[in-house]
This record gives sequence, C-alpha cells and structure tokens, in this order.
Amino acid sequence: MKITKNAVATLEYTLTDDAGELIDTSEGDTPLIYIHGTDSLIPRLETELDGKAVGDELKVHLKPEDAYGERDDEMLQTMPRTDLPEDVELEVGMQFQAESDDGIHIVSVAAIVGDDVVIDANHPLAGVALNFDVKVIEVREATSEELEHGHVHGDAEGCQHD
Ligand code: ZN
Repeated sequence: MKITKNAVATLEYTLTDDAGELIDTSEGDTPLIYIHGTDSLIPRLETELDGKAVGDELKVHLKPEDAYGERDDEMLQTMPRTDLPEDVELEVGMQFQAESDDGIHIVSVAAIVGDDVVIDANHPLAGVALNFDVKVIEVREATSEELEHGHVHGDAEGCQHD
C-alpha cells in the first residue's frame, strides 16, 4: 500500500545540513514510525512522503522556513549570571531546558559577556536547511486504537504506555 492519510509508515532516514554535516540518523538506531496526516513530522516532509510505497527512497531538501524557521534575534536574551543556577558551569553552546509561560523549551548559551549570559531560545535547527534521505521500510493501516490515541503502538497487543 501507499502512504496515505492514517497509514503507519516506518522510515529509515539520515538528516544532514547543507554543509553535509550529519544532524541525525536512524542508522544503528530504531527507524522512525509515524501516522501519516497527523502532523507528526515537518509538514513539508509529510507532503513529500504522500503516495510513496515500501522500498521508495527520496531526498527532501527543506529551506529553513519550511523546517524549523529562520533564526530570530529577538529570541536572544541577556540575563545576569546570578539569575542562573550557581552550581552549573556555563559554556557557550551548552543547551538546557528552560520553562516559560508556554511550556518547556530547549535554550542554549549564545555568549558569556562579563557578568552577563546571552541565552538563545531559537530552536537548535532554526536557520538550518535540512536534507532528508529517506527510505520507506513498511506501510500499514493504523488501527482504530492508534488513531484514537494519535500515536503508533508497538508489535505486542494493546497499548504499551501508561
Ligand atoms: Zn496508545
């Protein structure tokens, strides 16, 4: 069968940036399994996968605006070092979770300037063009239970989560 709305597709993938640097891969790890048409993946990637079948391989190039968006300088925030936990040794590039009004975000340390720290709340892949190398491994219908839950269940009977 083909990948259509409410199909469960299993994918092997490798994700690189435009410089050819590896960002993520399913190689040596579990493949990606998702329910098509439920906005589980980047929308443009789901569009490209529509109608594909087992064995199909595709390369998808996504500009930043079609992936995680452009970088936004307004998401840089300077705060005094004393506002951050004392026992953490800060380094430029380190990432941590920060809680804000609309949930938990991954933020990173963009710079340390004297007694101030510049925190970057942009998505780590904002401003990055993405190149997906995808191979379709399996396609099946979602079960009614999976559709009800909005996620894929494992091979064993029943729901495998709390
Ligand atoms: Zn479930």
